Amino acid sequence: MMKSPRQPLLLGAFLGLTALPASLPAATASDAGLERFRATYKELVETNTTLSAGDCTLAARRMEARLRAAGYPDADLRIFVPEGHPKEGGLLAVLHGSDPHAKSVLMLAHVDVVEAKREDWTRDPFTLIEEDGYFYGRGTSDMKAQAAIWVDNLVRFREEGFKPKRTIKLALTCGEETNGALNGADWLVHNARDEIDAAFAITEGMDAELDAKGHRVAMHVLAAEKVSQNFTLEATNPGGHSSRPRPDNAIYELVRAVDRVSRFEFPVQLNDANRGYLLGMSRLVPGDKGAAMAAVAKDPNDAAALAVLDQDANLHAMLRTTCVATMLSAGHATNALPQRARANINCRIFPGVSREAVLAQLTEVADDPQLSVTIPEVRGPVAQPPPLTSQIMGPVEKISGELWPGVPVVPGLEPGASDAQFLNPAGIPTYGITGLFVDPDNGNIHGLNERAHIQSVYESRTFLYRLVKAYATQ
Ligand SMILES: [Zn+2]
Repeated sequence: MMKSPRQPLLLGAFLGLTALPASLPAATASDAGLERFRATYKELVETNTTLSAGDCTLAARRMEARLRAAGYPDADLRIFVPEGHPKEGGLLAVLHGSDPHAKSVLMLAHVDVVEAKREDWTRDPFTLIEEDGYFYGRGTSDMKAQAAIWVDNLVRFREEGFKPKRTIKLALTCGEETNGALNGADWLVHNARDEIDAAFAITEGMDAELDAKGHRVAMHVLAAEKVSQNFTLEATNPGGHSSRPRPDNAIYELVRAVDRVSRFEFPVQLNDANRGYLLGMSRLVPGDKGAAMAAVAKDPNDAAALAVLDQDANLHAMLRTTCVATMLSAGHATNALPQRARANINCRIFPGVSREAVLAQLTEVADDPQLSVTIPEVRGPVAQPPPLTSQIMGPVEKISGELWPGVPVVPGLEPGASDAQFLNPAGIPTYGITGLFVDPDNGNIHGLNERAHIQSVYESRTFLYRLVKAYATQ
């Protein structure tokens, strides 16, 4: 997951203000399958799956071996390896449902991880280490816990003789974490669309929230993600000798246009995901901020309330398309008038808005007919976010309420992106549901010493086991 940081407003905002649910209880050893799950998780974490030195195909084969040992026949297991990418393969597995007319449920997880340098980490990033109530290791949180839970689900379902109504599918993929790498979910959409066909897919998303003291704050369902798109602003000029400046100058023209872009704000847009987030969090966040959340959920044009929310970079991004200059290049010599000046503008497009609409808006804002505004490359189609139906939310609310009574289920919109960006446009509505309660720093995913609460991982396992079962019997 390319995640944005957690909203800082939550940190400690509630302490003492509301009756809080109990903090995480001690691990229970009553589940006989827990050790087996832990071994699956350990095996995944300890299989290096970075793009530079790792091997997703090996991780996929190891998970396949576990499913085969649990009794899955070869016909229901498939290792796929995209041509020319021998170490970027993945696994498809299936548990057949009893109703041929009921569409499948797809459990999706990427098994690749962000790079991790041993010399920078306190502990070996590719050894699963338990310390102070945490699992440490690259991918412990993003997202080998959920990948291991998906495998463990299939093992448990088989072992119990569970006969789902819907077929349950598993897809483990590679290439989510590295821009420009071959993306396994995208590859499946183009090469195995039938095999991953499903009524909906569940994957990583916004994790559930703990506050700084380990109290549960909210359980999240990620229902929409923004789309990342680069735009190129470019000014050109015949140039000349710098001893004789002229009024027209590519650098000045570009910089003025970039400045206009910097001062432009896209209009606020609300959908199920961010409206649900504002409403849900408005009940938890005290003071002006909570009131402003409720006000904007009701009226997205409430300027006074927006001014409060826009001080928070995460909320600001959740409410609209944003564009920001990220790179500049200009000129060809220190003593020459510039012939070319170019800026990269990275936009995070609100779900459902077309690239063309943003291009037209940027062209208008740049407001210089001499300047070109273009799209350098496109990663995939844009889709409307999937609706938050009761079919999706009902089981989440029920099971979350059983496991974590009193903790609200709050939808979310993620300014970053996951593999949902490939599945949604392919007609497979994809939701981010983990049930993994993480610390306010998100368990330092992508960073040093990534970690996950041991108890949270085990609870997430219980939650996702019950949830997939509930979905599969719908
Ligand atoms: Zn991820």
